[in-house]
Amino acid sequence: MSERLPPRDDLALMAGYHSPQVDVAVRLNTNEAPEPPPPAFIEALQDELGRVAFHRYPDREARELRAAIGELHGFRGEQVFAANGSNEVLQTLLLTYGGPGRTVLVFEPTYALHAHIARITGTPVATAERDEQFRLAPDTAVVAVRRVKPAITFLCSPNNPTGLLEDAETVAAVIAAAPGLVVVDEAYGQFAPRSSIGDVTDDGNLVVVRTFSKTWSMAAARLGYCVAPASVVAELEQVVLPYHLDSVKQAAGRLALRFEKEMDGRVAALVEERGRLALALADLPVDVWPSGANFILFRPRARDGADVWQALVDRSVLVRNCSAWPRLEGCLRVTVGTPEEDDAFLTALREVLA
Ligand code: PMP
Repeated sequence: MSERLPPRDDLALMAGYHSPQVDVAVRLNTNEAPEPPPPAFIEALQDELGRVAFHRYPDREARELRAAIGELHGFRGEQVFAANGSNEVLQTLLLTYGGPGRTVLVFEPTYALHAHIARITGTPVATAERDEQFRLAPDTAVVAVRRVKPAITFLCSPNNPTGLLEDAETVAAVIAAAPGLVVVDEAYGQFAPRSSIGDVTDDGNLVVVRTFSKTWSMAAARLGYCVAPASVVAELEQVVLPYHLDSVKQAAGRLALRFEKEMDGRVAALVEERGRLALALADLPVDVWPSGANFILFRPRARDGADVWQALVDRSVLVRNCSAWPRLEGCLRVTVGTPEEDDAFLTALREVLA
C-alpha cells in the first residue's frame, strides 16, 4: 500500500490546544458558567424549535441575531459579525486579514489560540513579551507594533490565562500606532470593570470580540461575535462559509439576549465569588494575580505546579494546568464556580498544600 500523504508541513510541529476532559466531580478548568441558562430560556427555545423550517437553509446573514446583538451594545447589525464561538470569529478575521506574507502580533503570555489559529491560517506570528507581572506598558506595545507592522495586533482584556486587564492607555496607544486591525478579545469582558467595545467606529481599526460561552451560559451552543467597522464585517461575511450559523443557534442567541437582567445578576454574583476565592487563595502559600475575569491564575510557592494539579485531580477537582506553558512555569488556573464547587476546590487545595 502506498503511503498516505501527510498533512501540511507547517502543521507538523504544531501542538494542539486542548484541556483534558477528565471525569471529575468539580470541573473548574475551562472558564464556563457554573450554572445552566435560566429555565425560561430553555422553554422559549423549545417553543422556537417548533417554528424552525428545518428543510430550509438558515438566514445566511443571521440578520435578526446580529441586530439584537448590535442593540445590546448600541451598534447596528451591520457592525456585528457572528460565528460558531469566538474562536471562529478569530479564525475568520485571520483568514480575511492574515495569510502568508502578512504578520500578526501577540503579547505573551496570552490566549494561545490567537497564535495557534494564525499559524493554521498560514499567518506568521510575531511575539512581544509582557513584563514579569504580565503587564503590558504602552511604550513596549508601540515599539513592537512599529517593528512588526502587523496586519492584526491582538490584545486580550481580561487576558487569558493571567486574568489581568489591558491597560487603557496601552489599548489606546496600540490603536493609534497600528497599521492594521487591532483585535481586542473580550471573551471575559462582562466580568471586568472596563471594555473597549464603546470605542469601535466605522472608520476606525478596532474590533472587539465577545462570546456567549461564558456570561450567557451557552458554551455548548458555540456562538461568538465581534463588533467591528461595517466594512470589516462585510469582508468577513465574504470569507466565512455560507450558512455557517444554523437556525437553532441563531434563535438561541437571539432568545438569550432577552435574559440580560438575569445574566447581569449572575455576572455580579460571580464577580463577588471571585473576590471570596481570591481572598481565600491569599491565605495560602501561593502567588495570585488580580483577575478581572471568571478565573484566577495562581502559583504554588513551594510545590511543583503539575504535582499540585494531579493531587487536585486525585481529589476529583480539575483546574487548568498551565505549569508547562512558556512564562507560566508552575502556574494553575481555576475557574470561578458555584460557592460549593469553590469550597470543594479550596478544601482540596488546602489539603494538598498542607
Ligand atoms: N477568547 C478567549 C480569550 C478565550 O479564553 C476563549 C475561550 N477559552 C475564547 C476566545 C473562545 O471562546 P468560544 O470559542 O467558546 O467563544
